[in-house]
This record gives sequence, C-alpha cells and structure tokens, in this order.
Amino acid sequence: MAAEPGRLDWLRGEIARHDTLYFEKAEPEITDYEYDHLKAELRRLEVELGRESSERVGSDLRKESALVPHGRPMLSLEKAYSNDEVDKFGARLWEAGLKPGEGLIVEPKYDGIAINVRMVRGRVGVAATRGDGTRGEVVTAAFAAVGDMGYRWDRSQGIEEIELRGEVIISYEAFAALNARRVAAGDEPFRHPRAVAAGSIKLTDLAEIQARGLSVVFHGWGEVVPETAAPESVLAFRSWAQGVGLPVGEMVRVKFGERSSLRGVIEQVREDAAALPTDGVVIKVDEVSSQRRLGDGPTAPRWAIARKFAPPRAETTLRQIVWQVGRSGVLTPVAEFEPVQLDGTTVARATLHNAKEVRRRDLRRGDRVVVEKAGQVIPAIVEVRTALRAGESVAEGWPEQCPSCGEAVEVDGVDLRCGNFECPDQMGLRLVHFASRGAVGIRGLGKSMATKLVEARLVRGPGDLYAVTEAELVDLPGVGLATARKLRREIGDSRAQAPWRMLVGLGLPGLGPTRAKLVASKLPRLTDLLDAEERAEAFAALGAAARAELEVALEQPEIAQMVIKLYAAVAKE
Ligand SMILES: [Zn+2]
Repeated sequence: MAAEPGRLDWLRGEIARHDTLYFEKAEPEITDYEYDHLKAELRRLEVELGRESSERVGSDLRKESALVPHGRPMLSLEKAYSNDEVDKFGARLWEAGLKPGEGLIVEPKYDGIAINVRMVRGRVGVAATRGDGTRGEVVTAAFAAVGDMGYRWDRSQGIEEIELRGEVIISYEAFAALNARRVAAGDEPFRHPRAVAAGSIKLTDLAEIQARGLSVVFHGWGEVVPETAAPESVLAFRSWAQGVGLPVGEMVRVKFGERSSLRGVIEQVREDAAALPTDGVVIKVDEVSSQRRLGDGPTAPRWAIARKFAPPRAETTLRQIVWQVGRSGVLTPVAEFEPVQLDGTTVARATLHNAKEVRRRDLRRGDRVVVEKAGQVIPAIVEVRTALRAGESVAEGWPEQCPSCGEAVEVDGVDLRCGNFECPDQMGLRLVHFASRGAVGIRGLGKSMATKLVEARLVRGPGDLYAVTEAELVDLPGVGLATARKLRREIGDSRAQAPWRMLVGLGLPGLGPTRAKLVASKLPRLTDLLDAEERAEAFAALGAAARAELEVALEQPEIAQMVIKLYAAVAKE
C-alpha cells in the first residue's frame, strides 16, 4: 500500500483521541494491542513520507493536578510482537557490544498504572504518576491508601533517597470481587483492571481506594541519593528491595546469547504471572554499566524491550444487539453472539460502549465478529469481518423506544436515554442502589426483589419501601413468610442509618460517600436539599462541576418528590 498523507493525519487524530480516553479519562475504547498497532503504522508512515516523528511518551496529566518533576525521566519501552523482533533486539545488543554470559532479566509486564515513588530515608516522600515522562501528577495520599508502605530504614546500603519505579495493579481476584460489589449495588461493573488502577490512583476517597484491594509491584529505580549508592544491577536492586520489605515482582536472569533458554523463560514468566493482569514480559539488560553503554533513545531505553502478547481471541457470529436500561436512564447496547470458547470459558455477550459505538461499527445480524477478552474479564468485539457479509444485511439501528417502558428515547451525546423517571428498570435499579451496602444497606433487596416490588406497583421510589407491609411482601411471587419478615425488618432498621447514607442512596449524580458526608454534615434534614439557599451553603465545598450537576438534578420535580417522600418516611416523629 502506498503511503498516504490522509491516512497519516487520520492516524495522528485517532491516536490523540485514544490518548485522551486512556490517560485522562481512563476509559479506553480499544485494546492496548490495537493501540500499539495504530502507533506502529503511524511510525512507518512517518518514515515513508519523510515526516517528523510525532512520537512522545503518552501523558496522563489532568489540567488541574499538582505536578512534580521526576528525578530521572520515566521512559516508555520499545515493543516487540514476535520472537523475531526479540531476536532483532538481541542482535542490536550484540552489535552494541553486550557479551555472551552477561545477564538479561525477564519479568512480567504488569498492566496497571506506572508509579514513581520517592522514598526519603525509608519513608514515602512523594508518589507521582508517569505524567508526561518528565513530570507526574502527585498522588501521594492515594498511593498511601493502596498498600502498607510503612517501611522504615534510615540509610540502607548507603541509600538516603531513591525513586522506586513500579506499577499499581489490581489482581484478577480483587477485580472480580470489586465488580461483584458494584453489580450488587446496581452500578456498572468496571471493564478492565487497568482502568481500575488508573482511576483509583486519582480518587480522593481514600476509604474507597483501600476497599478496592489494589497493590503495587516495584521493578526498577530512577534517581538515587547519593548516586554512588545506586544498585549496580537489576538483581542487586531486587535483593535490596526485598531486604527492606518492598513488594517486588518476579524476575528471572538469563545469560545473554542463549536464545532457546530466553524463549522458554519468557513463556514461563508469562505463565507464572497469570493471577495478575499483565500484557507481556519485559526483557532488560541486568548490569547497569552495560545499560549505560547502550544508553537511552528519545522515548525509550535501548537496553530494554517489552514483548507483548496478543490477548486471546475467537471468531463467532453476531445474533443481535439488546439494550439495557441503566439507573440514570442511559441505554447500553449489549452484543449477543453464538457462544464461543475463549481462554477457557464460554462467552456469549459483549458490552458495546454506547449507542454511538453501534453506529460506528456498523454491526449487522449474522456478521462474523472477532471477540477478545479485554483484561480477561468482559469480552469485547475487536473486529467485524465485513468482507464475509453475504447478501443483503441490515445495520443494527438504534431503538426508538425504551425496551423497559416504551417511552421514546432521546439522543444525549454518545448515548441514548430514556427520560421517563418512572421507567420500571430505572425504578428497580434506584431501589437496588438505595439498598446497597455503600448506601443504607438493606439485605435481601437485590435486583430480583426490586423488580417484583416495582412490577407489583408497591414501590416507586426509596420512600415507598417503608410503607410496605409483611402481608404485601408475602403476596409477591416466590416470596415466603421468612423472607418477607426479614426484609421488613431490614427495611425498618435502615431508618436509623446516618443521613449521609440516605444521601448516597438517593443516587444523585456525583454524590458518592465522600461528597455525601461533606454535604450531610451541613444539612440537618434531607429536605433542606430542596432549599436553594440552604444547599448552596452545603455545596460550597464541592467543585463547581459537581455543584452544577447536582443543581440540575435537584431542579427536577420527580427528584424533589423522591427526596420529600424519603424524608417523610424516615423522619423521626
Ligand atoms: Zn424507560
């Protein structure tokens, strides 16, 4: 294919868009693998067309954040997608004078968010994200909530200060537990462990970060004070770090020049790291003196490479797209396809991100699609084999009506939305959210019970729960006396919950536990929320964007009604 300037501009725009989604919003639309291929194509075209390279280390900086310079830049890694490319890397090391028998380190390439932690005499000084590679965003408090970093050494092996380079990650186990909690609370599950790590480190709610079960793995270092105390090899760093109690990842040393053993070790390291999210392995020169001789390129060191592996994929046939209504009325498209084996499990559904995505991908019933397990959890459709389409097929369009209530749907940015506040699915999910552990905590009020209550027209909002009698509960399909009695008691007990929990339970936009506590401490009664003056004072501590969003919500008569009803139901006589 001839090099095309138009394609080059398209690639640059597309990569910039994905950078924003990935680094600033932590909501990637494509897999890393696809992203890397876009970048590789761009590099090729830039060379072919003789254009200046637009390459830079991606930036995760948000505009409002506090920044700190790194003692030494945090570079990215050059990537290899095949054993041949790893061999080429080996050949380059050979040309640069690396001798047979010198060490190569093979370690998992953890898939989370990169972190730089400056330790000062054994204590965390500053923790920062990679940022743009030279400056990062300060996340010290959030990082402290990730794990126990109470290491204490005064001057270990002469080191007074050291920048630790590592990755904040969430294990698949913790990820699954976190998503189970979210689903139980009526919230959307997270799509990818990496998005959880990246998002969590920027949260201000430290209790929430702690509850998520993240961890950190260190794999290298940056600046060391005094410089003479710096480790002389990666393995020396590892044994020092282990000695002072820091979490370090697995590392295997291979002798340079032994190609077959390198390949075997790469496979082994990859398999051993299966419980943690990784997207490949890193191969790097062990001895620092050799690393120095090889030096750094503009964006990546010449002495290391990331061998990336394609995530498992399978091909299947699209049956249809169904639409699910969320608590806020947003319709999420879900692709249903012929069940297919993927990485040891059978999958039959994939979440598409939003309505716009359905149009962009031009999906049609009967299409052959390639699905991939993104982060080993929720599959994603990564390719539609349009060339295989036979005869006429009709694009899966947007529904005109809400699948739950039949109300005409509205277009809202990239989403479709059902604006009917009394839409059964929305009412049910509002109850589930109110009853969730993060809000007032009513055990036994999950999705199926909420649906029954709404369908029987017993309950339309949280406030109605308190008037439901045991007899009415027993009349619901499949509800026995014991269940009814227990639920009745749970509902009654929830009256005594702290006011901030009631606030969280209302499910107003952006009003999570941290903000709800802040607001509740200044509003003695829930109904004060409806008084513009009272709430202006209580909202003063919130950011402007959060305030504006809440103001819009509270101007809705349906929401005002919900607040009044709930307050009337739980207020003490
Ligand atoms: Zn609806």
